[in-house]
Amino acid sequence: MRVLVISDIHANLEALETVLADAASLNYEAVWCLGDLVGYGPRPNECIERVQALRGLVCLVGNHDKAVLDELDVNAFNHDARAAIHWTRAALTPANMAYLRSLKPLDEIGDFTLAHASPRQPIWEYILNRYIARDNFAYFDTPFCLVGHTHVPVVYHAPGADGECSERAPDYDQVLGLNGQRLIINPGSVGQPRDSHPDAAYAFLDTTQRIWEYRRVAYDVSATQRQMRAAEFPERLVIRIAYGW
Ligand code: ZN
Repeated sequence: MRVLVISDIHANLEALETVLADAASLNYEAVWCLGDLVGYGPRPNECIERVQALRGLVCLVGNHDKAVLDELDVNAFNHDARAAIHWTRAALTPANMAYLRSLKPLDEIGDFTLAHASPRQPIWEYILNRYIARDNFAYFDTPFCLVGHTHVPVVYHAPGADGECSERAPDYDQVLGLNGQRLIINPGSVGQPRDSHPDAAYAFLDTTQRIWEYRRVAYDVSATQRQMRAAEFPERLVIRIAYGW
């Protein structure tokens, strides 16, 4: 199966549309979306409706989605994120609220466990380093686990004989073969990358050929920024997407 893997769109429609246009030639049959459809960005309804219509969709719920639904305490978020959550709550249609409410934070498809944050704590835990990754390998049974949430594309290899886990930054020129070793893989974020690189991040997965391909595409950041300023979003949120932090 040919799968488009996307995560952390965060209501950035410009980034989402650019990713979908870039991915059109990949002839994907399914889309796995790892959550956080909304929060931070100015086009939550449009992003939910666009994602819902994608073929073969499996979509998870993320912590920002949960906060908008009032299923997670907004005080756990920083000031700017909280402002965006309140704005989003007021903007979402009842139908799109109901759609978010229908989503789970964890799923399993064949050899792949899908979690928004981590297999150990699918809503909230950040897999920020190889030590946290190491502990998470005990919390899923499949060969591979796909996670979002940190907005940083990365691959963690299962602990070796020394009990330590290794970490690898994405290689955009080479596909990653999914053979043998168990992996935790993060595709990065479509709508708010945080690896000092503003281009939208996503991945292509072929479960039959067993390959993973990291992809990056530049989108019109200034168009999203204009939409954010028109909606009076905190300026820090507007600025950060231009720098990828
Ligand atoms: Zn996120």
